[in-house]
Amino acid sequence: MYMYFCMKHFPNISNATREEEVSNEGKQTRSSEDWREGRRIVELDVLATGLRACLKCGLPLQLGHTIDIQTYGLGCLLKVQCFNTICMHVNSVPTGKRHDRVWDVNSKLATALVHSGLGERQANSFLSELNIPAFSYKLVSARLTEVGNVVEEVAKESTNEALEKELAAVEQKKGTLVVAVDAGWQKRGSGRAYDSKSGHCSMIGPETGKIINYSVRSKECRVCSRAESRNESPRKHACYRNWEGSSKGMEADMVIEMVKDVQSKGCTVAALVGDEDSTTIGRVRANISNSIEKISDRNHLKKILGNSLYSLKKNHPVLTVKIIKYLQSCFNYIIAQGEGNPEQIAKDLNALSKHPFGDHECCSSRWCKFLSNPKSVFKSFPQGKPLSGASLQKSLESVFEGYAKNSLKLSTVGSTQANDPYEKLDTYSSRTVTVLRTVLIIIIWTFL
Ligand SMILES: [Zn+2]
Ligand SMILES: [Zn+2]
Ligand SMILES: [Zn+2]
Repeated sequence: MYMYFCMKHFPNISNATREEEVSNEGKQTRSSEDWREGRRIVELDVLATGLRACLKCGLPLQLGHTIDIQTYGLGCLLKVQCFNTICMHVNSVPTGKRHDRVWDVNSKLATALVHSGLGERQANSFLSELNIPAFSYKLVSARLTEVGNVVEEVAKESTNEALEKELAAVEQKKGTLVVAVDAGWQKRGSGRAYDSKSGHCSMIGPETGKIINYSVRSKECRVCSRAESRNESPRKHACYRNWEGSSKGMEADMVIEMVKDVQSKGCTVAALVGDEDSTTIGRVRANISNSIEKISDRNHLKKILGNSLYSLKKNHPVLTVKIIKYLQSCFNYIIAQGEGNPEQIAKDLNALSKHPFGDHECCSSRWCKFLSNPKSVFKSFPQGKPLSGASLQKSLESVFEGYAKNSLKLSTVGSTQANDPYEKLDTYSSRTVTVLRTVLIIIIWTFL
């Protein structure tokens, strides 16, 4: 016979049940007060649903009748005993949602660690201050792998999308695909790049400023290293150890992989923008194609500008070497100042075709001294006087216009010299950057 309790007047039997130590399908359930201590992260709706009815008799359950708690990272199962004295079934009530056999809250913990940049120890001391039970490294590492796979998929999707946009922009200009590459290393210990255990490289489309590909090399894998130290063969795992050579060789290898990957998607990489180091381009040419051009950085651009100015000299003898050098240094200054600011570069370059002729209307006080002192002179020009001649001005205008059109490229090209391209790129594609950073942190966190 079942006994029914009126919700409003049921007696408090929580003490009684705990004293009784009832059996549950032959299994002795130990009464524990652990659940009363500290704090837990609870999804109230899930808890309320779990307490709605006893699985056996359908009567509502009471949180106060919990007799034990099983903790799984930040999630837990409450063992709540039915207070129906005939049923007394011990129900498992979860404190949060689960997917497959994984607690959502633990997956969330993994992403939270990545986004906040907290390590296991820091996160656990944070939790312990809040009186929330600590989690184990093993648990969060498994979740990081799970999250990492998802994030990696998003990263692939996002870079493919960026590549398509870059190609569309290139096609519109009827140009060729030029890509900027930049490598970084996770510096540990000595801080020198060349003995680091992992490196990453990104490929940036200068037209859009977006990351169109990326690559990661790691010399280390936690699972492998541990197995090696015990002289065992490692268990089956997603191994991220993909590099055995020198740290220096990582960059060329990553660039080759990215160029190959982009080419396999049906696009031809015509030129690489990178740092002065020639090892990478040498190896890329040897492995992929000799026709891949190398564009180094703004010094290189300055040289190209020099070439076009010197060719103007044939028709306009007034353009002396001194004047060309002056224009080159103005150009260089404008590019350096406009890092990450394509509009400013375009505006300044437009002004640069008027400024030498004494027209300072479009000039900026950042670089034109005539604005603050109209009595200034052009020291590099004959008699300090501005240039003259409408046809020369037209020619200069078309040269600088060509560069101004590529202001976005110019504003990113300069930044490939920076150590951390992700920092500089934030303004262009924060989503891609976040995703990439997440992938990298997960990889580093999980496998190093
Ligand atoms: Zn029951
Ligand atoms: Zn491994
Ligand atoms: Zn000026």
